Amino acid sequence: MLLNFLPVFLLAEVMSAVQAAPLLQDGVKSLFDRAGGGHPSWGGSARRGGKFPEIGSPEWKALYPPLDVPPTDMPQAWLDALRSVEAQGLIPPLSVNPISTLWPDGSRSYGDLSGISPEICNNGLGCGSPLDTSVAPEGMLGVSQDDGPLGPGVRLYEYFEAQNISATHFYVGSNVVRNYGIFLQARNIPGQHFAVHTWSHQYTTSLTNEQVVAEIGWTMQILADNNFGLIPAHWRPPYGDVDNRVRAIVREVFGLKTITWNPDPQDYFVHVGLKSKQAVKDEFEARVRGPKSPGLIPLEHVTSVEAVDIFIETYPLFLEEGWNVTNIPDLWSEAWYKNSPSGEPSTRLDPGVSIVSPRRSDGTFAASATGGGSSLGQMECSHMLLWAGVMVGAVGAWKGRSGRMGALVGAVAIWGLVSTWKH
Ligand SMILES: [Zn+2]
Repeated sequence: MLLNFLPVFLLAEVMSAVQAAPLLQDGVKSLFDRAGGGHPSWGGSARRGGKFPEIGSPEWKALYPPLDVPPTDMPQAWLDALRSVEAQGLIPPLSVNPISTLWPDGSRSYGDLSGISPEICNNGLGCGSPLDTSVAPEGMLGVSQDDGPLGPGVRLYEYFEAQNISATHFYVGSNVVRNYGIFLQARNIPGQHFAVHTWSHQYTTSLTNEQVVAEIGWTMQILADNNFGLIPAHWRPPYGDVDNRVRAIVREVFGLKTITWNPDPQDYFVHVGLKSKQAVKDEFEARVRGPKSPGLIPLEHVTSVEAVDIFIETYPLFLEEGWNVTNIPDLWSEAWYKNSPSGEPSTRLDPGVSIVSPRRSDGTFAASATGGGSSLGQMECSHMLLWAGVMVGAVGAWKGRSGRMGALVGAVAIWGLVSTWKH
């Protein structure tokens, strides 16, 4: 946590400011940190020995929850950690920051409450919070790729290796199970940094406290288990959907830093035909040619060949324009992981050797990993079909007796489409 490194007098200033926002007290240390840098689930157990299953084997898959849905099971230690910070009043109660209602188009609402009120401050609804990090230092460009590991990313990883590019990968836990081979490929390329993008890519503000813990915890667990015991320290909320309740859970239980973005060139629109590749590139390149302050953290994805092309075709311009290009934690010379020193990724052990946490050595915690469910791409397609239907209805209304109503419905439909694909 950044605050750990502030001088005492500055810390007092920060704390008084934090106390002015009573819902987010005691942001100094997460439970993870207060426990001495070792969450009960990970601390110590990673070094106890024992044989960890071969990555990709049925035994390995059985270590993790079902794919593409919020996990319903988790180690008791995670629940205990949640109950502890709830009891300390560190998590905004649902009476103040309720669970958002998720609508079929991906929009969220809080009943009569405004999602952009200070008590809630949903980033996905347009409320910028100082608790999120969305810009890089002047002159710096942070490379991050969301939603992997996925097939289109393979070519990108080869490019990273050839060009010696160090990037942050905000991974979906379910995709790590499904595409473990691609994960291993990325892991073995020097300079790659791995962070959390949740287990099943949900709108996190629509989840219960327990579901948020499971989504974050399982993704941290699978990355730590299979990345030499290195425990993630950063996360990015899917669709940018995060509010004060979710921020507090992720910070107080796990101590993760929330990373959002600037700009969003909308590379995800190209594959579904909503924007041309050239239009995305033009927008992206305009930002890269633009002012160096603030620095950039572009939102980018490995969800399609087109999105990967856009990065590869734009990257030379980063260098031409003189940007200092690096992964996310190196933007601020932060530690890559919760258990690695700042700026020293070389603490990683020999590639190919799994030093992992056999956290289920007693066999008491059994979760099946039967896979199933839809992939992220399929979910996006279902959203597309839904909105195609709405738009057809809108056109019908437009041509029918009520032109104004048709225009309104059409506008809502287009807005829904935009929000659906915004990661
Ligand atoms: Zn995403």
